Amino acid sequence: MKYVGAHVSIAGGVENAPLNAREIGARAFALFTKNQRQWSAPPLAEAAIAAFRQNLDAAGIEPRHVLPHDSYLINLGHPDPDGLAKSRAAFIDEMQRVAQLGLDRLNFHPGAHLGRLPEDACLDRIAESINLALEQVPGVTAVIENTAGQGTNLGHRFEHLAHIIDKVTDKSRVGVCLDTCHTFTAGYDLRTPQACEATFAEFDRAVGFDYLRGMHLNDSKPELGSRVDRHASLGKGHLGMAVFEYIMNDPRFDDLPLILETPDRQRWPAEIRRLYGLTRDRD
Ligand SMILES: [Zn+2]
Ligand SMILES: [Zn+2]
Repeated sequence: MKYVGAHVSIAGGVENAPLNAREIGARAFALFTKNQRQWSAPPLAEAAIAAFRQNLDAAGIEPRHVLPHDSYLINLGHPDPDGLAKSRAAFIDEMQRVAQLGLDRLNFHPGAHLGRLPEDACLDRIAESINLALEQVPGVTAVIENTAGQGTNLGHRFEHLAHIIDKVTDKSRVGVCLDTCHTFTAGYDLRTPQACEATFAEFDRAVGFDYLRGMHLNDSKPELGSRVDRHASLGKGHLGMAVFEYIMNDPRFDDLPLILETPDRQRWPAEIRRLYGLTRDRD
């Protein structure tokens, strides 16, 4: 069974996210647990937490089909002590928010070396940040997203994800989220069923499907290997629909949050319907 949704708004409070998901016909969703452009936010109010749990239940969405996303400011591989400490504290706060909401995973971009740290040292640092967070917050899995590799961002090679996982102590609470746009612009082709077969086989070899905890379903404005992160609406970019048909018909993507982060939210209801329509053997 496939669980498709989108990264919905929390305007007016986190408790509105499940309502926004239901409105677009989603069976899964992503959300920020706070304003993603600010370092700190007031703690979640008890009433908001209770309302979130109630609305989630009413929407008929399971906690494991919700994929919270952390703030874009956080860099768990920051080369400087101050930036690193600030990032780690903010990440732990987000993990705690996720736990308070009754959710079980937090999706994040691994980090950037900013030209001041060797790649390996930065990857080690990211793993250490994850270890610290997992020690502080029980019950939440750290879900590393693969990146386009824009600027000095790491995580664009499957080997980077494997390197980080290798250094995480509690392997039961580390996972990955693959973004189709990032995968493609990082240089892994996904434009044909054959290309999907090869790319996902490479992922399975390097990381392993056992670690997959979610997917971001985005078409790509930039070309293969451009290392640029710009999402396109489904069928409107260089990826085309083959990868989405592949995912919707492969049981390795069952029971995971499959999340649209496409730029035109007006299209989300139609994109969700279109994705389910690609299923050949209906659930
Ligand atoms: Zn993404
Ligand atoms: Zn992106």
